[in-house]
Amino acid sequence: MTKLEVFNPATNEVIERLDYTSNEDIQAQIERAHKAFQQWKKIDAHERSAKLMKWAELIDEHQDELARLITLEGGKPLAEAKGEVTYANSYVKWYAEEAKRVYGRTIPANAPSKKIIIDKFPVGVVGAITPWNFPAAMITRKMAPALAAGCTIICKPAVKTPLTTIKLVELAHEAGFPKDAISYIIASGKDAGDLFTEHELISKVTFTGSTAVGKTLIEQSAQQVKNVTMELGGLAPLIVHKDADIDAAVDGTIASKFRNAGQTCICANRIYVHQDIAEAYTEKLIEKVHALTVGNGLESDVKVGPLIDEQAVKKVLTHITDAQEKGGELSRSIEEIQSLGGNFLKPVVISNANLDMKAMHEETFGPVAPVMTYEDLDEVIRIANDTEFGLASYFFTNDYRTGLKFFNELEYGVIGWNDGGPSAAHAPFGGLKESGYGREGGIEGIEPYLETKYLSIQE
Ligand code: NAP
Repeated sequence: MTKLEVFNPATNEVIERLDYTSNEDIQAQIERAHKAFQQWKKIDAHERSAKLMKWAELIDEHQDELARLITLEGGKPLAEAKGEVTYANSYVKWYAEEAKRVYGRTIPANAPSKKIIIDKFPVGVVGAITPWNFPAAMITRKMAPALAAGCTIICKPAVKTPLTTIKLVELAHEAGFPKDAISYIIASGKDAGDLFTEHELISKVTFTGSTAVGKTLIEQSAQQVKNVTMELGGLAPLIVHKDADIDAAVDGTIASKFRNAGQTCICANRIYVHQDIAEAYTEKLIEKVHALTVGNGLESDVKVGPLIDEQAVKKVLTHITDAQEKGGELSRSIEEIQSLGGNFLKPVVISNANLDMKAMHEETFGPVAPVMTYEDLDEVIRIANDTEFGLASYFFTNDYRTGLKFFNELEYGVIGWNDGGPSAAHAPFGGLKESGYGREGGIEGIEPYLETKYLSIQE
């Protein structure tokens, strides 16, 4: 059987060859996870919590090793990869605590002889499918709350970045989780998606990835009315209003836009700047963007690593050339952008952007910052909301009335006010509209793994 080759996007070298899990083995694994669920759901919450804490301890101990794997298979700079491990582990730690806080309640009944008790129960076996851009965090955001709730979980990482998952699962087993309570498979998205949605022992499908694939999984899950969580694509607007602190806005833009070389679902995709400050903002932005060192993420001082593969490079170049053809001004030439070769692209700012450009209405997933000017506050909010996506948005203003207006009117699940990095394990991350449904993080993030039942007792 052909093996899965895992590439280093910085060198295009094969770093690992793995066996695919056959469909028969996946089915057997689902059955074992179901058997394990019968035991795991009975383990008391304090013991589940303790195991999650132990897992977190081991992840902390292996931070360097995990970060190196993330950089090797995903390309992001090592310092950023270390940050991802910390961020991924913050979900394990958070849900270790939340495991103990799955509260039921009693409610007054409609007769003195009656009592109504509400309780929460784990949904069952979870099938998780994750993308390549956060090989650790996208996994722990699902595994930790699922295990905390008493579910068992099988994860299918992206074939581009399976190594981090393998290590995380090994550490979970070392922490004492039963082998079949938390496991992974090496399979294509299509195979895993078909099996997870068709198999009757899978009670829940949780997915992070593109909206197109999310829609397919929703359709497939409808056959058995499966419980699904969808963390899908974004097209984040970043708005800099005339009363913003320009330096803070530039720093916030860099933080939001260029993390993981612009390959995050909450990356600012399109930037709108008030015309009164557009020149000053763009000048400072270009200066800082051009100062970002691009290279192999294992080298020190590198701030922007390679894109994930050649296909990603092609797509991003299409957005750049399209913008140029439609009147955009590039801060560096196309030749310079591509001068490092391979999967590397030097980051670029595109001024004079307009709404016709692909980069203003399609997810770019690359180090490209298109900047368009605006005049009117209501108009920029209308433009920002004029999309089927609703994951993240950002605005910069020092006026609280303007800030609250943005918060009230922007149709997004995650909103940063003077904040280019709003994600946190203790906050409910997720999108509106075609960016999905369900939340990961916060007290909300365990709910998708729980069913509510109530008991009505007649004395
Ligand atoms: P993708 O192509 O949708 O892939 C994501 C996962 O889905 C991979 O594991 C992939 O498997 C699998 N997949 C592909 N086709 C499938 C199918 N027919 N059925 C079931 N699974 C299938 O997305 P991507 O390019 O990896 O990731 C980028 C996208 O993810 C962007 O749109 C980004 O915005 C979104 N994202 C969203 C969030 C969020 O929290 N909302 C976070 C990160 C990323 P393979 O291994 O075979 O590719």
